[in-house]
Amino acid sequence: MYKSFLIKYAEIGVKGKNRYIFEDRLCDQIRYALERCEGEFEVTKTQGRIYVNALTEYDFDETVENLKTVFGIWGICPVVKLEDEGFEKLAEDVIAYVDKVYPDKNFTFKVDTRRARKNYPKESMEVNADIGAVLLNAFPEMKVDVRKPDVMLHIEIREMIYIYSTVIPGPGGLPIGTNGKGTLLLSGGIDSPVAGYMISKRGVKLDAVYFHAPPYTSDRAKQKVVDLAKLVSRYSGPIDLHVINFTDIQLYIYEKCPHDELTIIMRRYMMRIAQHIAQESGSLGLITGESIGQVASQTMQSLMATNDVCTMPVYRPLIGFDKEDIVDVSKKIDTYETSILPFEDCCTIFVAKHPVTKPNLKVIRIHEQNLEENIDALVQKALETDEVIHVSWND
Ligand code: ATP
Ligand code: MG
Repeated sequence: MYKSFLIKYAEIGVKGKNRYIFEDRLCDQIRYALERCEGEFEVTKTQGRIYVNALTEYDFDETVENLKTVFGIWGICPVVKLEDEGFEKLAEDVIAYVDKVYPDKNFTFKVDTRRARKNYPKESMEVNADIGAVLLNAFPEMKVDVRKPDVMLHIEIREMIYIYSTVIPGPGGLPIGTNGKGTLLLSGGIDSPVAGYMISKRGVKLDAVYFHAPPYTSDRAKQKVVDLAKLVSRYSGPIDLHVINFTDIQLYIYEKCPHDELTIIMRRYMMRIAQHIAQESGSLGLITGESIGQVASQTMQSLMATNDVCTMPVYRPLIGFDKEDIVDVSKKIDTYETSILPFEDCCTIFVAKHPVTKPNLKVIRIHEQNLEENIDALVQKALETDEVIHVSWND
């Protein structure tokens, strides 16, 4: 029945040159989402409208499911496309459309016509009135309500005629790539994939960094992070995942620093290295899954100590979220089941029994001086282990 979809997007703030960038990025992401669907499609941009046209047979539900992963889409309208074969035929087709889409006719409606092709013999207002009358005649239970109709029946007259009346909600947000790139510190936990999802929803393309500590963390733990990146890339588009070998740095901190400050000092080195990678790749900020008070390393004092080494902005979209809220999102985006697989990450292995919950920044800085002798070389060495894995949902 439907051969096309009209893609609606929120236009607030999309003006002038920005509009083209916005629409082009949106079309790119729509194509990325459709790549994984059965059938062939064409995505077109005409007169401020984006259409997805099916060129072959396709699976309606699968296509809609995938369009729902495209940030920037506000609504997905399945469209019936008709040849212009005169008004009589149009009226018949509209009746058939309404009959099929709304088996129960107890609703109010309004016809809204847009005449993009000016040589069409009737004006928009005339089409509204005439089609309205035809429908009232065919289905006496239906009623007109021009103020707050239950159903807004849109008729667009172009080369062909388009009819649509349903809007399937999209995810909202902004198209990926309209807001630069950010670097996600991605661990195997529940939080960081959700943080990546949330920032990418604002139009930010993602890179990711994972700190791996073999043999203390297994290959399966690493594979879990790759899998999580893949799940996030369904929404965010392809991700370059940097895997950094963090073992020697961790052992060195373990050897030289008080164990109750281990996590904080380790996190400071993670941030420093992630920042280095971010700068090299043209990224505009770091992203973490931290939330105030969730664990000892995420109290206000701990966050201050971690943040102290960052010169780039650090985005923490989950900062005010309770764990349950984060879990809800992770279930929605399908990362939860993977996140709870029981492979250890480096933070849990080297964690102290009683980590400081209120680290004193001055004390941390002093204890970090214990690392002076070797740490620069170790950081350099860790950066040389950088393994970049290109992750895409479509591969
Ligand atoms: P998550 O659920 O994301 O693992 P968490 O609640 O376990 O978070 P922490 O272990 O304190 O919290 O880590 C805080 C943040 O630091 C994580 O959300 C993530 O952004 C980053 N992070 C922690 N460990 C790693 C790692 N091994 N590699 C990359 N980033 C990490
Ligand atoms: Mg974790």
